[in-house]
Amino acid sequence: QAKQQGRGQYAIFDPEMHQQMMQRLQIENDLRKALGNQEFLLHYQPIVCLKTQQVRGFEALLRWQHPQKGLMLPGEFIRVAEETGLIIPIGEWILQTTCQQLTQWQAVFPSQVLEISVNLSVKQLQGPILKHVATALAASNLQKNSLALEITESMLMENIDVTYQLLAQIKAQSVRLSIDDFGTGYSSLSYLHRLPVDYLKIDRTFVSSDQVDGRNQTIAESIITLSNLLDLKAIAEGIETPQQLQWLAALGCELGQGHLFRGAMSAEDATQYLHQQLPQ
Ligand code: C2E
Ligand code: MG
Ligand code: MG
Ligand code: MG
Repeated sequence: QAKQQGRGQYAIFDPEMHQQMMQRLQIENDLRKALGNQEFLLHYQPIVCLKTQQVRGFEALLRWQHPQKGLMLPGEFIRVAEETGLIIPIGEWILQTTCQQLTQWQAVFPSQVLEISVNLSVKQLQGPILKHVATALAASNLQKNSLALEITESMLMENIDVTYQLLAQIKAQSVRLSIDDFGTGYSSLSYLHRLPVDYLKIDRTFVSSDQVDGRNQTIAESIITLSNLLDLKAIAEGIETPQQLQWLAALGCELGQGHLFRGAMSAEDATQYLHQQLPQ
């Protein structure tokens, strides 16, 4: 009895824990208003062909323009959005916005193949994702197979049979699929060939090495080999140096993204970037 009381008191009067709880409550409250107040925006990071360095598309990355705190990154709020279920309407907005944005870019550069890649959270896979994808596609005028959805390994493994069917239905809408942060989870390789996946994104932990023959490089090399064997495309994340670009390209990695090319930028800057990079 006394022990229980002691523990309860500890939780209530621990100032640091109290502070954290208040912060999280504040974010939750602010998040509930953010969509209605149009405080979300998307930044776009180019995905380029490593051989030619030509832009192939963008990954859409969520940002929150908080009225007091300024521009916030997903690491500061996405977990709360998932835990509250707010990620479902936010995710619906992301799909609509990215499909409309890419439709505009495709209209300006009709001779180019331009794709857009959108991150999904596990909560979205449990919600009306098929409907949200279908609605976003119907409301835009996207070329077929130019929307890609990114899911992580742990999302795949959570309920493999349900996920498999869901992914097949997504694919049937002419949408591509990527496995994000590949190599950091524990996906069973025996499932990989069964999954209707198009891209493997090599997590940046395995890219951030400059040593030749480093351990990370060996892992990156295995992922590239695996991609080629399974007829998938590898996308290297977090390329920051010319050396990294060089060894990844030499290993036959087709695509990549990272600060060496460009970081994530506003829609306006991304449009400028396309005009600089591509012939019309
Ligand atoms: P991710 O999907 O793996 O995205 C890549 C992250 O790496 C982005 O961080 C990007 O800005 C950052 N990055 C890109 N190039 C470099 C580089 O050269 N070096 C380094 N050090 N970092 C680089 P960001 O935008 O903070 O996003 C973090 C994570 O938040 C994403 O990881 C993704 O899991 C999640 N996220 C972002 N946008 C969305 C979204 O719209 N929906 C959902 N559900 N999750 C999102
Ligand atoms: Mg991603
Ligand atoms: Mg990633
Ligand atoms: Mg990552």
